[in-house]
Amino acid sequence: MKIGIMGGTFDPIHIGHLLLGQFAYEEFGLGEIWFLPNGNPPHKRRKDECALQLRVEMIRRAIRDVPYFKLCLHEADESVHSYTYKTMGELNALYPGNDFYFILGADSLFSIETWKCFREIFPTCTILAAMRDDKDITDMQGQIQYLEQAYGARVCILQAPLLEISSTTLRQRASRRQSIRYMVPDAVAEYIRKNHLYQKREADDGRFG
Ligand code: ATP
Ligand code: MG
Repeated sequence: MKIGIMGGTFDPIHIGHLLLGQFAYEEFGLGEIWFLPNGNPPHKRRKDECALQLRVEMIRRAIRDVPYFKLCLHEADESVHSYTYKTMGELNALYPGNDFYFILGADSLFSIETWKCFREIFPTCTILAAMRDDKDITDMQGQIQYLEQAYGARVCILQAPLLEISSTTLRQRASRRQSIRYMVPDAVAEYIRKNHLYQKREADDGRFG
C-alpha cells in the first residue's frame, strides 16, 4: 500500500494539515494517510505548548470521520526527541510491503537540511511538498532540483489550496479569545474551548488584560 505520512507537532491540528492529507490522498492514489504527532520535537520548545496527550486527542477528533486518515503513535514518547530519519527507517522496517510518502509544507522543505541525519530520510520515502506562505512555485522547483541533485531525494510538488494558517496563529488567537472557527474542525475548536487550551500564559502574565 502507498502510505502518506503527515508528520508535525499539531499544536493544534488545523485545516491546513487536513487539506494536505486529503489532496495527497487523491493526487497520489494513496491508501491511507497517517498523522504522526511528535512527542518531543527537537527544534520546538515553547512555554505555550500542549502536552502530547492533548495534541493526540485533537488529532483523533479531527480525523475520526475519515476512514483513510489514521493516527500513528510511533513518535508518541515525550521523554525522547523524535527524529524523522529514525522514524521513517523504523516504519519501513516494520511495514516492508508499503511505500511511504512524506507530506510536508514549503517551510519544512527549505529547512530539511537542518534536520538530524536528513540524508537518511531520502531513501525511505518520496517527499510530497506543498506550497506555503511566501514560497512560490519557482522557489519550490529550485529547491526540489537541488535536493534531487545533491542527495538523490525523490520530491514531488503537492498541489493543494494555499492556506495561510498555522498552529502558531491559532494558539495566539485562542490566547486572545479570538475565534478559531473554520480554521480547525468544529470538534477541535470545542475541545480547545472546553479544556481552556492555549490560555494559560495569558492568565499567568496578564499581557492581554
Ligand atoms: P507551528 O506554527 O506551531 O509551527 P504549523 O502550522 O507549522 O505549526 P506543524 O505541526 O509545524 O504546523 O506542521 C506540520 C507540517 O504541516 C509541516 O510540514 C508544515 O510545513 C505543514 N503545514 C502546516 N500548515 C500548513 C499550511 N497552512 N500549508 C501548507 N503546509 C502546512
Ligand atoms: Mg511549523
